[in-house]
Amino acid sequence: MATISKASQNKTGFFNSIVTRLSALFIAIIAVLLLLINTYFLTASRNMMFTSKQTSLETQASVISTSLSALDHLSKENVSQVFDILEVRDFARVIVVDPSGEKLYSSQMDDDNIPDAQIEEHLQRALDGRDVFYSRFYDDAFSSSISVPVMIGGTTAGAFCMSELDKEQGSVLIGLQDRARNLSIIIAALTVIATLIVIRITMQRINKIMDAIVMVREGEYEYRIRVTGNDELTRLSSEFNDLTSRLQETEQRRQQFVADASHELKTPLASIRLLSDSILQNDTMTPEMAREFITDIGNEASRLARTTEKLISLTRLDNDITPDRSRMDLAENVRSTIRVLQPLADERGVTISEHFGTDCFVYASDDELRHITLNLIENAIKYNWDGGDIDVTLNNTDDGMVRFTVEDTGVGIPEDDLPHIFDRFYRVDKARSREAGGSGLGLAIVRSTVDELGASISAERRAEGGMRFTVDFPCCPSDPDSEADN
Ligand code: ADP
Repeated sequence: MATISKASQNKTGFFNSIVTRLSALFIAIIAVLLLLINTYFLTASRNMMFTSKQTSLETQASVISTSLSALDHLSKENVSQVFDILEVRDFARVIVVDPSGEKLYSSQMDDDNIPDAQIEEHLQRALDGRDVFYSRFYDDAFSSSISVPVMIGGTTAGAFCMSELDKEQGSVLIGLQDRARNLSIIIAALTVIATLIVIRITMQRINKIMDAIVMVREGEYEYRIRVTGNDELTRLSSEFNDLTSRLQETEQRRQQFVADASHELKTPLASIRLLSDSILQNDTMTPEMAREFITDIGNEASRLARTTEKLISLTRLDNDITPDRSRMDLAENVRSTIRVLQPLADERGVTISEHFGTDCFVYASDDELRHITLNLIENAIKYNWDGGDIDVTLNNTDDGMVRFTVEDTGVGIPEDDLPHIFDRFYRVDKARSREAGGSGLGLAIVRSTVDELGASISAERRAEGGMRFTVDFPCCPSDPDSEADN
């Protein structure tokens, strides 16, 4: 419960959430876009109507202008005769003026919403020889006018202006505007609803991941996120699950290691305690017996020291402390290891044969190579029969590796145990290992060191009996450090 309440404390507030902020930005962009689209749509449709009005007015004006130009002069009588014939009833107002601006004809059939002063100004400009078109959208209707000069015999004989009020087109435009606005409101509302749904779902999913992180942080390593979908959050969840699995594995291994290590340290300590108690409590113990007990105490103490030393080596390897590496002659290292182990081999009557090729250089530290060569050759002696043989081979392979092989004629390892021999504290034959002073850590150290060096190791049973351990090191033909310096 404590972890869950901690998890909920970690939830980001609605307004502080990145998802909310991004969504607000998205909604704002959509709103601005809708506004721009609406404004553009309105202006464009209005302009389209102005253009169509201009075309239709220009066509009609040209008919009237042609008819008036056919007269030999403009007078009130003949102008009104022309307009009677043409029947210009569709217009709100028609005005004809002579060059001085005097009205020759004026009809006011309807209100056109255009001020008189403006009409007069347009007529004046027409008398100056220009066509003037005017249109405006006002009071839900289009008020338009056209003023053109009337030319008779190459001179300006007057001008006329026709204006109209179009409520029909106006209501079409208003209808379009209303529909565009309603559509925009619907789109905006749908966007807001969809965005709120997306925010909610995304925040729920993010909060699930956050909760999971808190749970794992609190030590619940078995906690996993249920992975659904196929997006970035799904990937994040499955990466988190993988990470947690690894963490769980590491934690389990750590706990196992601590348990095994304490057991390994406790056993010789208990033996020492038992042996020393026996000496103290037995008054009748002969000096020979006491010496035997004390020798056993010494052996247990040595074992304790060896195990502690190996545990320290493993911890160093686990901590990734990179030792001082350089180009090393592996043959030299193996020779010195054999020299160290020769007394042990002699004790068991085991013969060690060396088969070394030339130029077996690897990039490593002396200690790392010693971990590998010592543990493998020591095992080959420890787990050999008395009078057995060991072949230690070193050579360069065709694929650029330096191969180190240790073969023995010993007891061998059963097939079923082979996959586990590199595990920490794993022993095939516990009694034999203990007797030989083993801790079950030697091959684990070899494996960790091999991994650190980018090498590989394999173990196989020999058909003739005994084991063959092979380590392939990346070859180091020249010193990378001195190359880097150059
Ligand atoms: P130990 O300290 O017990 O020798 P290791 O990690 O070196 O631990 O080896 C693990 C186990 O693998 C040993 O207990 C032994 O049973 C087995 N083993 C290792 N090397 C050999 C070998 N050359 N021949 C037979 N058994 C071996």
